[in-house]
Amino acid sequence: MTQTIDVQGVTVPRVGFGTWQITGEECYEAVRHALELGYRHIDTARAYDNEEEVGRAIADAGVPREEVFLTTKIWTSEFGADALPRAAADSLRKLGTDHVDLLLLHWPNPDVPLEETLGALAREREAGRARLIGVSNFPPGLLERALRLGPVANDQVEFHPYLGQDRLLALAETHELFVTAYSPLAQGDVARDAVLREIGEEHGRTPGQVALRWLLDHERVVVVPKSASPQRRAENFDVFGFELSDDQRARIDALPKDRRQGDPSWAPDWNA
Ligand code: NAP
Repeated sequence: MTQTIDVQGVTVPRVGFGTWQITGEECYEAVRHALELGYRHIDTARAYDNEEEVGRAIADAGVPREEVFLTTKIWTSEFGADALPRAAADSLRKLGTDHVDLLLLHWPNPDVPLEETLGALAREREAGRARLIGVSNFPPGLLERALRLGPVANDQVEFHPYLGQDRLLALAETHELFVTAYSPLAQGDVARDAVLREIGEEHGRTPGQVALRWLLDHERVVVVPKSASPQRRAENFDVFGFELSDDQRARIDALPKDRRQGDPSWAPDWNA
């Protein structure tokens, strides 16, 4: 079990800290604490309204910037060839850095040609303002299109014990991408799962740790759990000190894999 993945010459820590729905001082304190615990991968987005706090926390934490893998995401209203570089520049200013490690398109936007958006995104990478570029919420067919248009390194999608991503994982393998599992704890639902609880008890671990470990047992997958609680932040980072058996993995594999937490009106056809 590796704790990092190398993609296009960039090292990606496999457990990141998600920051959706944490803003203001709470976000600042949470990110500082995450960095103290040892997290070296922070996931934010323009839409989360917390980039300034994330940037300040990284600057104040005393961890060298080059040791932190920092992701932000461009919102769909900023996908035009002129708007995207302006949005990226605004994010870098808020984050207080001259580059992010991963710059993502937050959701597909069928109203702007993908060629135009990917071209603008690739120029951010060429200019050194993003070490890697990628997409989020792209179903497999759309990801394949994006791969033909630019050096896409990542698709960030919902993935947890109740939702499978087999087609994307196969693409990740073929194209040497990584897949980021968002809502990896099914937004907290895993805590109430009898199967995960039982497996956790066999290791002296929590259902959340079992869910994260199961995800990490998929090659090329990284996880970005969010927690507003210091104790759960520590718990979610401590997932390499035990191993699931083949039988335990099979029991989690057997859980129904068709339950999506996030399906907003602007979501794509997930089977595309
Ligand atoms: P999540 O990480 O699966 O779950 C967070 C929820 O689970 C919170 O309610 C949290 O409560 C609870 N929790 C945290 N640790 C736990 C544990 N060990 N045991 C039980 N419950 C626990 O959900 P998420 O926030 O939706 O996803 C994580 C990150 O993925 C986001 O923060 C964001 O960075 C990213 N994301 C991206 C997209 C996208 O469109 N690209 C969409 C959604 C999420 P407490 O806070 O009280 O601990």
